Amino acid sequence: MKKLDMIYEGKAKKVFRTDDPKQYIVSYKDDATAFNGLKKGSIADKGIVNNKMSAILFKMLEEKGIPTHMIALLNDRESLVKAVQILPLEVIVRNVAAGSMSKRLGIEEGTILPQIVLEFSYKNDELGDPLINDDHALAMGLATREQISRVKAYTFKINEFLKEFFLDKGLKLIDFKIEFGLYDGEVILADEISPDTCRLWDVNTNEKMDKDRFRRDLGKVEETYQEVLARVTKCAE
Ligand code: UDP
Repeated sequence: MKKLDMIYEGKAKKVFRTDDPKQYIVSYKDDATAFNGLKKGSIADKGIVNNKMSAILFKMLEEKGIPTHMIALLNDRESLVKAVQILPLEVIVRNVAAGSMSKRLGIEEGTILPQIVLEFSYKNDELGDPLINDDHALAMGLATREQISRVKAYTFKINEFLKEFFLDKGLKLIDFKIEFGLYDGEVILADEISPDTCRLWDVNTNEKMDKDRFRRDLGKVEETYQEVLARVTKCAE
């Protein structure tokens, strides 16, 4: 597999073409941003944590029957993935109120939601990834009705598998964001699943074990990313 030119550089990752047009190499960076790019910084070795953690989680989800873009972990910071066309939707799942939902709706952070909340955001940095519903997505041509129902069905299953997986590692899955792509016309899970994209709280102490440590200047940022990776890597006892 030959790594060719970079085709995309985002806030946390670079994407390279390979000599196979159906495969890309994703390279994870240590750069961290929050509040729509207003807060900028770096978290040492975050790229390594997010790359390895995503590979482990995508593999687990594949084994449970969820199609993902993951092909292989290549090295500390790089993975080989299927070349998908990303649907311009951020899919957010909430099990417990936190972050923007708490702020927007005045629900105290940590309130357990009596039912799962699934949100869509329109992936558009200039607009600040605004919250939209299914009808907006359809009217704007972001996805078809079939693709949206596929996305939702996968997302509910992914939430169940991730919740169980993290609980086994002593982590509560508060909320998370995922993205899907099209590969051979089929919807598959893409992007990453990491402490950058999930809220994870320690089951015993409720300590925040995710990017909120960076967003809110809570300290022990690097240590927490390493701790999450160590827990995710550890085999079930
Ligand atoms: N999230 C993300 N990327 C985004 C927005 C949100 O990965 O651009 C994740 C975030 O880490 C959290 C969940 O989605 O796990 C819900 O985020 P929220 O809408 O509460 O926004 P925030 O408070 O992070 O701005």
